[in-house]
Amino acid sequence: MKLSMKCRWRILMMAFAAAGLFACPALAQPIRVVTTFPDLADITRQIGKNLVSVESLATGVEDPHGVPMKPSFVPRLNRANVLVLTGLDDEHSWLPALLEVASNPKILLGQPGYIDCSVGIPVLEAPSRLDRAEGDLHPKGNPHYLLDPVYAKIAAQNIAVGLARNFPQHQAEFDRNLKAYLAELDTWIARWEKLAAPLRGVKYVEYHPEWVYFANRFGLKRVGSVELKPGIEPTPNHLVQLAQQIKQEKAQVLIYGSQNPRIPQQLQNETGIKVLRLYTSAGGRAETDTYIKWIDYTVRSLVQAVS
Ligand SMILES: [Zn+2]
Repeated sequence: MKLSMKCRWRILMMAFAAAGLFACPALAQPIRVVTTFPDLADITRQIGKNLVSVESLATGVEDPHGVPMKPSFVPRLNRANVLVLTGLDDEHSWLPALLEVASNPKILLGQPGYIDCSVGIPVLEAPSRLDRAEGDLHPKGNPHYLLDPVYAKIAAQNIAVGLARNFPQHQAEFDRNLKAYLAELDTWIARWEKLAAPLRGVKYVEYHPEWVYFANRFGLKRVGSVELKPGIEPTPNHLVQLAQQIKQEKAQVLIYGSQNPRIPQQLQNETGIKVLRLYTSAGGRAETDTYIKWIDYTVRSLVQAVS
């Protein structure tokens, strides 16, 4: 039996469709995005979807201010169309040196491909003047704003704006994906606010000063930090005072991340405070591979620790 012309045409079309040959955008090269941290990589994927191919330099277990540089970072940065970073000098001690050797003018500070997620963040602990005296790692204020999911919405907006600045032909898609992601975040934020009710008024100690945004959002109260100043290890005297403070103020939980557990354990032995390791980026554990899963894990772990 001879197939009619129309029928043959239809079969041909189906074969093409099955082979994915009509999905033209999929054939185009994806936008190459490099992010400094896994949480930013996840948020970028939510907004760029199949238009982007995203890689994070850090894995989530490192000290954000001291991510060990690997040789593989350089070619990744060299090939990137855009770079997404936390900003506020969070990456100051490792990223500028990498950018210098990566020789990619598109992603340098001030260029369109440099997407700084901190634009528009109401910065906490901002000093009256820029000062890196004594190695202070927060010279522009506290850069750990992604621990507040409401501020993650600002970061997501910055990523969408930055992608559209570089690839305006996809603006409508970025906007649509951003809107959907912000709505998803709002649903989760409402859930976390309920879930975190037991954290209200809980007194905590942190190793490095990175929990202030989270604490403000969910009502925890800081008693002190192990570090003397951001990035400055404690003196024995400071640790004696901190132990006294923990006892006097009945601090319930000591949070640390990438740091050596030795001092937290020592304080636990002396005061009985609960010690909890929570990384301040997504990706530090298998169950925290997305931004939302990371915040969810963080809220749940803290609630469990204080109940
Ligand atoms: Zn810090």
